[in-house]
Amino acid sequence: MANLTLYYGTMETGKTTKLIQDHYNYSRYLIKLILMKPKVDTKGKNTVITRTGENVNVDIIIPKSANLLSKKYFNKYKYAQFILVDEAQFLSKNQINQLWYIAHKYNISVVCYALKSNFKGNLFEGSSQLFARSDEKHELTVNCSCGKSAMFNARRVNGKYIFSGKEVVIDGEHDEIEYIPLCSDCYLNFVLNNKCN
Ligand SMILES: [Zn+2]
Repeated sequence: MANLTLYYGTMETGKTTKLIQDHYNYSRYLIKLILMKPKVDTKGKNTVITRTGENVNVDIIIPKSANLLSKKYFNKYKYAQFILVDEAQFLSKNQINQLWYIAHKYNISVVCYALKSNFKGNLFEGSSQLFARSDEKHELTVNCSCGKSAMFNARRVNGKYIFSGKEVVIDGEHDEIEYIPLCSDCYLNFVLNNKCN
């Protein structure tokens, strides 16, 4: 039977590179594949694009209130063997439950690639539910500039770490915004100025 699988990590852990590699491997074996991503991720428009410029086309863009079990979406994925979902942290709790249902009711393997936490160090809604519902979880890691394993996605605006603002601001859309993977010690030091938030 199929499973719901999660690959998660901070920025720059190669989640999208892994998705594109998986997409290539499954396609090579003629596995019927559907690629989805949330509408809120406007990066790359209707493609998934890595930092090195590789890209694949997205089959289904998921609006915030979409019900993935409705006929409109079901008809698009019903013959698929695999569904890959990029930036799954931006999906709602209900949409994650729907993906879990698709895996176990319709026997379609669903693989989600997601950021674990937002720039304030809290779980995204989609990630939180993915931790609750995924049958398999794999952490992807990257080192902080100090050499320790990164835990946080710090937001930097014009080169300065900040701890305020909206949860979702897509980098690349705003030139001045970037996300930096930091370990706990560097996050406490550079972002929280050694205070408890
Ligand atoms: Zn560090």
